[in-house]
Parts: sequence; C-alpha cells; structure tokens
Amino acid sequence: MAVTIGLVAQLIEKLAPKFWAEEWDNVGLLVGAGSTPVKRILIALDGTLEVIAEAKEFGAQLIVAHHPIMFRPLKNLRSDNPAARLPLSLLDNQIGYYAAHTNLDQSSLSSSLSLGKILGLQEMKLLEEQPADNSFNRQCQSADVNEGTRGYGVIGYLDHKARLGTLWGQFLDQLSKSKLYARPYDLTGIRLAGAAEKEIRKVAIVNGSGSRFVPKALFKGADLLITGDADHHAVLDALEGGMAIGDLGHFLSEAPMLQSLYQYLTSEKSLQGIEIKVSEVNSSPWQ
Ligand SMILES: [Zn+2]
Repeated sequence: MAVTIGLVAQLIEKLAPKFWAEEWDNVGLLVGAGSTPVKRILIALDGTLEVIAEAKEFGAQLIVAHHPIMFRPLKNLRSDNPAARLPLSLLDNQIGYYAAHTNLDQSSLSSSLSLGKILGLQEMKLLEEQPADNSFNRQCQSADVNEGTRGYGVIGYLDHKARLGTLWGQFLDQLSKSKLYARPYDLTGIRLAGAAEKEIRKVAIVNGSGSRFVPKALFKGADLLITGDADHHAVLDALEGGMAIGDLGHFLSEAPMLQSLYQYLTSEKSLQGIEIKVSEVNSSPWQ
C-alpha cells in the first residue's frame, strides 16, 4: 500500500492527537491533500522559504514541521505578502505541510522530556499536567511520565546537588555531544540568569516560549528553569522568587523534537522505504 500524507499524519497523531492542541493553535495538515502519495519527508522546526527550497531539492512531498504556517488568517494570496509566500511556494512545488505544535509539546516526543533525560532528572513529572484522556493511555510510550497524563514541561531532581555555574557548563557540554540533535548546531544565544554559586537540586524544563511557566516552576520549588524564550520580566520574576533561568533560545530548546520525530517515523514499519531527513538549513535565526 502506498504511503500517503494521510498515513504520516495518522502516525504522528497516534502520539500527539490534534485535539490536544491549544484553541489558538493551527495544527494538522495545513497545505496539501491527505491522499497524496509520499516518498520523501523533510522534518523541520519552521516553515521558511529556505526549508521549502530544501524540500524541493530533496524531492519531498511533505514537510513535517513543529511551527504552523498561516498562524493568523490570510486575507489574500498575493506573492508580495510575506505570509502568503509560504503556502504559495508549497502549492507551486506541490509540497504538503503538516504542523504538530502544542499537541507535540504535550506528547512523549517533547523536547522537555529529551532534555530532562540528558540532565538525568530523577522522579521526572510533567510541570503542567493536562486532563487525562483514553487515547494517551493507549499510546503513551514514555516510562518517565505517568501513563494517562499529558502536559507541558517536566520537573525533576538532579541525582546530586550542583552549583549553577558548574551544572550549566556540564549541561551545555553534554548537549553538544548528545544525540539529541540531528546535527551539530551553533550554540549561540544561550543565556543564563542566576548566581554561579547557587545550589541546584530541582530543575524544570519547558521547550519553546516558557515565560508563562515561571510561576508554576516557582510554585513547584524549581531551583532552575531551562526554557527557550524567557522574556525580561519573566527572568526578573524568576530571580526575585529565587529561581535561576537558563535560556537555550527557542530553536535549540525545540530542535530535539526533530530528532525524536525522525526516530519515531523511521522506526515505523509502515514507512519503511520512505526517505526521511531532518532539515539542514533550518536553524536558529540569531547569529
Ligand atoms: Zn516553538
């Protein structure tokens, strides 16, 4: 049976059902048709013109991305409208676009979970649990987080107390050597707020824009919150509450999901023979 875009969507939604996505989000198949046969798939964090060009070069029929395009309603399909250029280019090149965003964040493929494993967090739990549902009970593949739960971020304990400065240095070193990323990325843009001597035991991690989780992480007693896009006021609130913040930048905090998606899709029997790759051009826009 030929692999179609619809089948790939089904496989992703087994782990990250669309109904988990936030109301404001825009997930699922955004461009293309479920019946289109697929031979090659490109995985990326963002849909950019460069990523679409790469997909074309690769001969992909589908881009699987974390961030949605057409996030705000489009009022025209003019080629001089930057927001319309992406869907127009996808249509021109007959490439489908599938986005798994806040539903993927809450799944067993989330970057927060992967980063927590690299840190060796013990007793890891979800930072913000969402109501349980039966589909997750059936599909949950993570032994680290209780079955029947889904949600954003993780929180857990280091196996030993560590000073912030030392821990952060070791963590970045582990990150650069880990297999969390499909390829080596420039670690530019990583920031740390907190005293180097601060003692760290409990760590919360939220991939992507994690500022809104500062109160939750403080409430749960985290000594350090590792996230992607911590804004100025969130950092001040964290420090005021006695919690340090490590900001990996949005891209690096979420790129482990590309690798998780790659591993998941390449291990699927029904996709054997399909060529899948993680984008080589998609990276942090910061230099
Ligand atoms: Zn994101």
